[in-house]
Amino acid sequence: MKTQAKIKINWLDEVKAVEPDVIEMRRYLHQHPELSFAEYKTADYIYKQLCSFGVEDIQRNVGNGLGIVARIHGAKPGPVIALRADFDALPIHEETDLPFKSQNEGVMHACGHDAHTAMLLGVAQIMNQHKNNFAGSVVCIFQNAEETKPGGAKSMIEDGALEDVDVIYGIHVVPEHEVGNVGYSMSYGSAASDTIEINVQGRGGHASRPHEAIDSVVIASEIITNLQSIVSRFVDPIDPAVLTFSSVAAGGGTAPNIIADQAKIKGTVRTFSEETRQTIKRKFKQMTQAIVEMNDGSVEVNYYDGYPALLNNRELVKNIVDRIQSAQLFNEVLEIGPMNGAAMIGEDFAYYLQKVPGAFLNIGVKNPGESETYPLHHPKFNLAEEALSKGMELYLFLLMQHLNEVTE
Ligand SMILES: [Zn+2]
Ligand SMILES: [Zn+2]
Repeated sequence: MKTQAKIKINWLDEVKAVEPDVIEMRRYLHQHPELSFAEYKTADYIYKQLCSFGVEDIQRNVGNGLGIVARIHGAKPGPVIALRADFDALPIHEETDLPFKSQNEGVMHACGHDAHTAMLLGVAQIMNQHKNNFAGSVVCIFQNAEETKPGGAKSMIEDGALEDVDVIYGIHVVPEHEVGNVGYSMSYGSAASDTIEINVQGRGGHASRPHEAIDSVVIASEIITNLQSIVSRFVDPIDPAVLTFSSVAAGGGTAPNIIADQAKIKGTVRTFSEETRQTIKRKFKQMTQAIVEMNDGSVEVNYYDGYPALLNNRELVKNIVDRIQSAQLFNEVLEIGPMNGAAMIGEDFAYYLQKVPGAFLNIGVKNPGESETYPLHHPKFNLAEEALSKGMELYLFLLMQHLNEVTE
């Protein structure tokens, strides 16, 4: 038995062969969506499909209890490459008229996680059929609860999902790009998204006698205006950061002659570098405390850490993108800069990339010629099913860049 150059499976034919099954699996998943941390039936379904393909090394109940890790071992040891699919849905009432629309009222696969899962199942089936032809292992990580913090990724890593893994890849569908296109970011793919909450406690009183009260509305206003200088004065101008106060509530909006005793402010912080994230967190707490103290009030400051920024491995991405381009597998290979719309959303794939090198790539799912597309998380979101094959092709292409061929 000899190990040769990189594995060469005639995978375009393989993808064609499994495509009908993958479409069917995606439709089944779409019809039976489940919310984060409650994906019991989905986890069962994935497990049963993997068993039906003959995959032998399947670990269930990984992480928070619903994750699945399927390891497909080649004929000889070699590189260990992980692929990840998420499988939770959203609390959205589906408004498509698909024949396989959600049967679970108020829950919808509006982020394409049904497609991610079906594609990875298809890849698992193909690689399992070819396990005698390669050296190394393919680790298929099926992760629940991507949409809801603390997410599923972290607990899966703590439970050993990345054990011995050399490189990891993930794919997300993008409705704004046409089928056949691939998107990538050289470095940051998504921002860290943290949530802030400030509860100001003043003292109520008559509006005509402010000196006897502690005006929570004035304190809240000072916080909102003064904290704008955090991004403008304490953050490196070439390092993107956003601090937005998105909600303010005080006084109940009824009486004009009462000074409100409490004010609640909510907002969000988006950053890429960890250093900037920590600077904003520190200044946010410090300035809020100082302003409240100056006004004789008291305050509860909550800063909730969201998912960290998603940082792709630059060298790996560069290499992969060059090869994808020269293989001419996709119509367009687009660089999606970190400030480009979708990139400012959170994604818990970031945790995997903190542990092992890898990349999170996008595939287009828009039907060419279709004028109207709906964004992710929209009740009318839909994807072109041709994209499932393209996603599988991309996964297989990535695997073949790492795994070695074994011949008798
Ligand atoms: Zn989502
Ligand atoms: Zn998603």
